[in-house]
Amino acid sequence: MKAEIVTMTAKEIDQEAIARGGEILKKGGLVAFPTETVYGLGGNALDPMASKKIYAAKGRPSDNPLIVHIAELKALTPIVKTVPEKAKILAEKFWPGPLTMIFEKSDLVPLETTGGLNSVAVRYPSDPIAAQLILAAGGYVAAPSANTSGRPSPTTAQHVEEDLGDAIDMIIDGGPVGIGLESTIVDFTEEVPVVLRPGYISLEMLQEVLGDVRMDKGLIKSDSNVHPKAPGMKYRHYAPKADLTIVEGSTEDVINAINQFVKEDQTNGLQAGIIATEETISEYPLGIVKCIGSREAEETIAHNLYEVLREFDQCQVSKIYSEAFYTPKMGQAIMNRLLKAAGHKIIKVGREEE
Ligand code: AMP
Ligand code: MG
Repeated sequence: MKAEIVTMTAKEIDQEAIARGGEILKKGGLVAFPTETVYGLGGNALDPMASKKIYAAKGRPSDNPLIVHIAELKALTPIVKTVPEKAKILAEKFWPGPLTMIFEKSDLVPLETTGGLNSVAVRYPSDPIAAQLILAAGGYVAAPSANTSGRPSPTTAQHVEEDLGDAIDMIIDGGPVGIGLESTIVDFTEEVPVVLRPGYISLEMLQEVLGDVRMDKGLIKSDSNVHPKAPGMKYRHYAPKADLTIVEGSTEDVINAINQFVKEDQTNGLQAGIIATEETISEYPLGIVKCIGSREAEETIAHNLYEVLREFDQCQVSKIYSEAFYTPKMGQAIMNRLLKAAGHKIIKVGREEE
């Protein structure tokens, strides 16, 4: 099967194609679509067979639950047991938007969709194409990122086609996504809300609204005995084919160290890639150097991360070195994805801070 590709923009939505996409989903088929975070691979969330198809198309481990996407607030109540007050506050503030919340699930949601868990992750995306498709499909669309499991998440329809073009029914090409990193996940099944995956909506933004919010201990890798609560966060993910190492330190130390590493690799007959920024790109004379964005506009770094990782898969490099990006707002989310892509390989260079 070759996916039909339909093109539209959020401003000019092709209603006929949306209706067709909705019909495909209602019949148990799979449709990839843009959201404000990354492209999603949609299937009817209330149909266990559709969920099974999603896992098969992605090669996704079946214990890794799917996020159920809705397009109106009133769709939340039927699929969950209760909505805690604090979740209502977050919904009011951040929905529609790049926020996923986890609740106890109702019987309406099949265990096939939740990877066998009694909880369900729900998101209400702001992308108008996504919203219209979800409504056309009957209101509940399970949609993980539309990539082959383990590859960088797709931020364009071309990425989706590369990975899943032969495995799904339709791809809606709505152009490049806005944010480029997956949604922030907040778990409401515990006393204190817990961030299971950082995203555009940062821990600080959540704390500002709710007060007490914790970061899942399993996300902090220094304690390898604690596993992340979101099953998906334990898998090596977003991984490029080449061996990726993050180099952390002052700008000058990082540039010197990366240049040294690339020189040594070349002496050993290995080609290396470098992930640099607009501010540093001219400092790297050797290797294949790619610009991820500007530190002055950190959202460009988030937006281009997966694209740059995918581009390196097209190059003959066996090593990639990346600067670290602990930027003020999205640094948590960017570094979470980059560290996973690097299998947590990070080298600290230069003098330790006093
Ligand atoms: P993706 O669909 O690729 O954005 O990944 C969805 C993420 O949400 C994965 O990391 C899942 O493990 C996580 N997730 C989905 N549902 C649940 C749930 N009920 N409990 C904990 N994590 C969840
Ligand atoms: Mg994913």
